[in-house]
Amino acid sequence: MAGRRRGLLIILDGLGDRPNPALDGETPLEAARTPNLDWLAAGGRCALVDPGMADRPVSTHSGAGVLLGVEPDDIRRLARGPVEAAGIGLDMADGDVAMRCNFATLERRDGALWVTDRRAGRIASETHDLASVLQNIALGDDISTSLYPATQHRAVLRLSGPGLSGAISDTDPGERTPLPAPVCASQPLNPDDPSALRTADALNRFSALAYERLRGHPLNDARRASGKAPATGIICRQAGTAATVPSLIGRIGLNTALVAGECTMLGLARLLGHTTITDVRFSSLPDTDLGAKVEAVRAALLNHDLVVLHIKGTDVCAHDRDSDGKRRFLERIDAALAPLLAEDLAKDLAGNLVIAVTGDHCTDSNSGVHINDPVPSLLFAGGKEVDTCETFGESQCAHGGLGVISGTTFLVSMLEAMGYLPHASA
Ligand SMILES: [Zn+2]
Repeated sequence: MAGRRRGLLIILDGLGDRPNPALDGETPLEAARTPNLDWLAAGGRCALVDPGMADRPVSTHSGAGVLLGVEPDDIRRLARGPVEAAGIGLDMADGDVAMRCNFATLERRDGALWVTDRRAGRIASETHDLASVLQNIALGDDISTSLYPATQHRAVLRLSGPGLSGAISDTDPGERTPLPAPVCASQPLNPDDPSALRTADALNRFSALAYERLRGHPLNDARRASGKAPATGIICRQAGTAATVPSLIGRIGLNTALVAGECTMLGLARLLGHTTITDVRFSSLPDTDLGAKVEAVRAALLNHDLVVLHIKGTDVCAHDRDSDGKRRFLERIDAALAPLLAEDLAKDLAGNLVIAVTGDHCTDSNSGVHINDPVPSLLFAGGKEVDTCETFGESQCAHGGLGVISGTTFLVSMLEAMGYLPHASA
């Protein structure tokens, strides 16, 4: 249809931050020299985007899910387990339950299993061989399971069988529990839920069986001999059943591609039915090849209505409390975006491009944790709608023309600028 424009949605993970003494009281985004983002902010409208998860810490899949048009209530129901399963390309049948897992170091003490290292010494490549002894296991009660390795110490557990439920508690004692700590017995979230009780019992049988099969594995003997922590067990969290996820972008029928190097975002995009574009050069760290990602975006813009670019390293720097690293990485991102603003791109696209820049949540580089502050954001629609913001940063965006808005409203504003939704005032 005439009047429609293509869209580029850039999600910088953990973009927003708080003033940091190491940056003379500025945030990493304020302290960074970002002429391209400033140019977009000056020629567009800015906002603070509220991730709207006041009742819980916002995560990448919930924050990004809302930006991609999933209703906040639906994203709350979407467990991380199925997202990670989709992230590694795992097929899930209707009713299967998936959980995120770690290879961990467990020890038996007084008859119970205790966690001594939640990541088994950050084990990496050996997990493929270890997982091979945890395939097609019959757990009784018509329930079977297999474990699939993901990146580093991570894995996904799939439980299959009739009448399973994702409403069960974790066996992982959690990142904030001091170690050593006992492996938790999974329980139904509702004690009167028979499906959840069966599923939790099966998971507890898996925990014991995985320890028996892994503790004497020759690879673990070799790890012990070289002073490394053995991967003697599997701890699991965030169970959920496979589900199709409705979204505004899906309802409109936009042909959408995601360019990313991180499994959570790739999984979310697959569940939403988007094309996923990834490459060995795209990592989830600041060492990602930004030039290659931007080149992939340029190519994808030629045959998609909407392209989403996700960059994870901003969040990683903030988790490491490296505010200056986050500042420097933002400067590298800004420089890498230059080809998207070049004049020849407009010719390639035979029209204007709407560019939105935001984040899935804020990550505070003072404390190293996710915070629920609203995220500095901008919407550039070819210089046609502007506000008074001249640079891109938290303080400027607080006075942006779009105001303080939800992720859903930010997406709607972008789709309006692209010509897909009527302006509310029309
Ligand atoms: Zn995130």
